[in-house]
Amino acid sequence: MQLDQATAEKLQQWERDLNAEYEQLQSRSLNLDLTRGKPSAEQLSLSNAMDGILAGDYTSADGTDTRNYGGIDGIKEMKRLGAEILQVDDGEVLVGGNSSLTLMFQAVLHAYLFGFDGPQSAWSRQQPVQFVCPVPGYDRHFAICEQLGIEMLTVPMTAAGPDMDALENLVRNDPAIKGLWCVPKYSNPTGAVYSAAVVERIAGLGRIAGAGFRVFWDNAYAVHDLGDTPAALASIMDCCRKQGTEDSVIQFASTSKITFAGAGVAFMAASAANLNAFKGSLGIATIGPDKVNQLRHARLFPSLAALHDHMRKHAQIIKPRFACVLDQLEAAFGHCDLGRWESGSGGYFISFSTRPGLAAEVVRLAAAAGVKLTPAGATFPYGRDPDDSNIRIAPTVPNVAELDTAMQVFVICVKLASVRQAIATRQ
Ligand code: PMP
Repeated sequence: MQLDQATAEKLQQWERDLNAEYEQLQSRSLNLDLTRGKPSAEQLSLSNAMDGILAGDYTSADGTDTRNYGGIDGIKEMKRLGAEILQVDDGEVLVGGNSSLTLMFQAVLHAYLFGFDGPQSAWSRQQPVQFVCPVPGYDRHFAICEQLGIEMLTVPMTAAGPDMDALENLVRNDPAIKGLWCVPKYSNPTGAVYSAAVVERIAGLGRIAGAGFRVFWDNAYAVHDLGDTPAALASIMDCCRKQGTEDSVIQFASTSKITFAGAGVAFMAASAANLNAFKGSLGIATIGPDKVNQLRHARLFPSLAALHDHMRKHAQIIKPRFACVLDQLEAAFGHCDLGRWESGSGGYFISFSTRPGLAAEVVRLAAAAGVKLTPAGATFPYGRDPDDSNIRIAPTVPNVAELDTAMQVFVICVKLASVRQAIATRQ
């Protein structure tokens, strides 16, 4: 479909045909959901062996009775696993409860109210407080900033990570910038993996930023590879050590998409100074994390190799789902300019861009045909995509047959919205 070369009659004809196809799909009363990046039930079942795995033995390797209070850092075996996932030393890891998002919120809150470098450094003492958000990005990161009244500035994502020239320029010239959100591997939603050069430059931001600056390095998809040759991500902590900026980065990960999304284990990794400061606040909020669940995870994954084996089983389940979406996009839009898409060799999402001004309309049309998509704009701060173009597709929950139908609807909606726009702009 080459809209720009088509005659007015041809456009009208396409609209009629697409309308007919759309109405036919609408009549099927579908109810499909491509919104959130959740594991499917089959994926969750891969970890059912955790139920009862302790068999009455609640003692961790160092003799701790995990049923009791205490151990704010988490148990040693899980610190080891977290350290391997995040490529840091064991002593740089804190193992928390079920959600890394909670740790991120608490870390930002700690910096805002109490300061990682003492009370004088609390961001709230200086206004405005700003964060840089590479876009498209993760809506829940943006929500944390919004909740605290932190202003968000954007830089574009590229295939190798954030546009570093734009990012360095902002950070160097604006001391109000206190934070940066990053999803460095299989980024949400584009799937990009930050290159070694980008990781190096992000580790260097601490030297050019104003006081109190922190990178929030959310490595949510660190081990979520789909291909047989996992993408390599440089260790940001190693880069920081070389540049003397260890305090400028706080890392996160979790087993939410490894074991149970609602009952996993979260990790935070940071310098000793940052961890100690954070524990000062955390220790007020809790006497300790759920160590029994941590031990269940440690028994399921006695080594990083065991975890990688487990992740290969996830990949087998979700690879055909990604392939289904990508095949349909290629067939429909591979040879025209109605849409572009990005997807990594891992992670949970495919990022699709319509022609400017159409994302909200595509989401509306799809919803009216029974296919729920993530709201247009969600991948941008304040829910505002300046081009109204980006749509995040999450293919893990529906099965392949459902996805196939959902993508037929998606394709028709993109074509219909594009043809209608082309007709309107000619008039
Ligand atoms: N970070 C990213 C980038 C995510 O995509 C998600 C889940 N969609 C999370 C964090 C949530 O992690 P958790 O379940 O550990 O809170």
